[in-house]
Amino acid sequence: MTIKAFVEQEKKTLKTKLSSFSTQPHLVIIQANENEGSNIYIRGKIQDCEDVGIKATHVRYPITITQNDLLKEIQRFNEDDSVDGLLVQVPLPEGMDSKMIREAILPQKDVDGFHPLSSMMACTPKGIIDYLHAENFSFNGKHAVVIGRSFIVGKPLASALLEKDCTVSILHSKTDLLTKHALLASADLICVAVGKKWFLSDEKIKPSAILVDVGINREDGTLFGDIKPGRHAALQTPVPGGVGLLTRLSLLKNVVEAFEKRQSRS
Ligand code: NDP
Repeated sequence: MTIKAFVEQEKKTLKTKLSSFSTQPHLVIIQANENEGSNIYIRGKIQDCEDVGIKATHVRYPITITQNDLLKEIQRFNEDDSVDGLLVQVPLPEGMDSKMIREAILPQKDVDGFHPLSSMMACTPKGIIDYLHAENFSFNGKHAVVIGRSFIVGKPLASALLEKDCTVSILHSKTDLLTKHALLASADLICVAVGKKWFLSDEKIKPSAILVDVGINREDGTLFGDIKPGRHAALQTPVPGGVGLLTRLSLLKNVVEAFEKRQSRS
């Protein structure tokens, strides 16, 4: 199934599930920047929420807001029982301690899944795992190579694949070429989250390999992935219309999960 069709199907399921509740889940999106990319992402998130029946509140603060004041605002939403999910859109104003801001969000409202104590999985890894499940990928014992080790994608994805009993290799900027080529040649699943156009292009890979392209690289208004299109593989996720859609879907799922947990507590 294409990623687009999978996402549509999953959104329908979420919508049907939410229609059986008398209240709506509520997501608060905090923005403290004037970044056009952020505006586009936020518009997309709000539209997704509307599509499935989640209430979304977009709260904007001036870029001059102090870290203390932003932390106080996060605290206010943490204490607001009508809020199920809370996220702070990046980039943050310059000089802010991003770790401190991230970790100020209550773990049970942390729908981005960035808090170390969050019960929810980070959105991009979650989307990838869910999609691979839908594609009947059998994780057990498979060799998965993850290129990139950021806390948003690479590390949580590697750890999620390990949980699924894959044998996981993590490559990063200090990995030497020989090792990289050897690991890629034996990989059943290759996930690239580097942020460089067509980073994976001509390396030898198994024709049966599954390629997951996380990268989003903008050049002259066009989006490119981290993997050259048209590799000879069993499956290659497209960019655009690939992992980005899965990430958006996971956010909705995390909001619904936080909402259901709150419902079961009250
Ligand atoms: P980061 O810049 O935080 O991490 C990039 C990673 O790539 C680092 O771990 C770095 O290694 C590694 N790297 C850089 N050069 C090489 C190299 N030559 N060989 C091997 N590894 C290398 O990026 P993110 O993880 O945040 O994002 C990666 C990409 O994914 C970006 O294009 C981003 O836009 C996209 N993205 C897409 C999402 C989606 O929903 N589709 C969601 C999030 C991100 P080292 O640690 O050694 O520096």
